[in-house]
Amino acid sequence: VSTANFIAATLINRTNYTDNLAVFELQPTTPFVFRPGQCATLAFLDGEKPLSRPYSIASPPAQSSLEFYVELITSGQFTPRLWSLTIGNTLWLRHRAVGVFTLLAKPDKPHHLMVASATGITPYVSMVSTALAQQDNQNNQNDEQTFTILHFAPQPAALAHYADKLHLLASQHPQRLNYQAIIYPTAENSLNSLSNSALETTAAAVPLADQLADAIATAMLSAQLTRHNTIAYACGHPQIVELAQQTFLNQGFDKTNLRTEKYFI
Ligand SMILES: Cc1cc2nc3c(=O)[nH]c(=O)nc-3n(C[C@H](O)[C@H](O)[C@H](O)COP(=O)(O)OP(=O)(O)OC[C@H]3O[C@@H](n4cnc5c(N)ncnc54)[C@H](O)[C@@H]3O)c2cc1C
Repeated sequence: VSTANFIAATLINRTNYTDNLAVFELQPTTPFVFRPGQCATLAFLDGEKPLSRPYSIASPPAQSSLEFYVELITSGQFTPRLWSLTIGNTLWLRHRAVGVFTLLAKPDKPHHLMVASATGITPYVSMVSTALAQQDNQNNQNDEQTFTILHFAPQPAALAHYADKLHLLASQHPQRLNYQAIIYPTAENSLNSLSNSALETTAAAVPLADQLADAIATAMLSAQLTRHNTIAYACGHPQIVELAQQTFLNQGFDKTNLRTEKYFI
């Protein structure tokens, strides 16, 4: 396969958070240009055709290395290969960044309400760290942009290092950033923590939709967010994205102030 449209990148860091969740840090050999929230297309070029998949970038454009948070799909084609990489191994990136899941700047809507599944946090990390750094540099007291992030995960380990990172950023910008990690019940974790009864387990596993709607409504009420002053976002696992989208539509959001990105169908 021709490497003409690709940049080589070396794996320089990797942290496994669970058996199937890991953060990968790649160092491209030439600068990779992107806007916060966009994806890079990672690729293996040793077959007949490129084997490639898009991944949202967690790092800000100001950083030369690129960080990705990936879920292993054991039956998948790409992620098992990614999992076999060790530090110093090389893979490829398509030259061009992809995606339009970026910050929507509207003067009358300075507030951003962002819902993420576990790995769906990455575009927000890039967007928010970039926006807050810009505000710090410009010392712009008039910039009223605020960010509320609701990060849903089935277990604490699935927050990876992003809970610590975003809590720290929030403590440095208490007026600007509110980050909440929300662990939702699944058949598995409710079985472990709540009960031994199959019946109760099913009952506990149901309310993700309610939990999401409640978390969104509470965040909106406490920060006085409305569809008139806020842009809403949902990213990651399709179930979380669809539930969040439905809640936002019920709250009166529409395509002018709601952005979504599903990682798969
Ligand atoms: C815009 C965009 C951004 C993305 N960003 C990320 C990211 O930051 N991190 C990340 O981990 N993935 C991300 N993805 C998904 C990623 O591109 C791959 O689809 C995923 O890693 C699976 O690749 P695979 O080749 O291993 O599996 P495939 O062989 O492509 O898929 C096998 C099957 O698994 C399903 N599947 C894919 N992902 C999942 C999943 N997470 N859970 C359950 N089933 C799944 C697919 O629908 C497919 O039917 C993104 C996708 C898009 C479109």
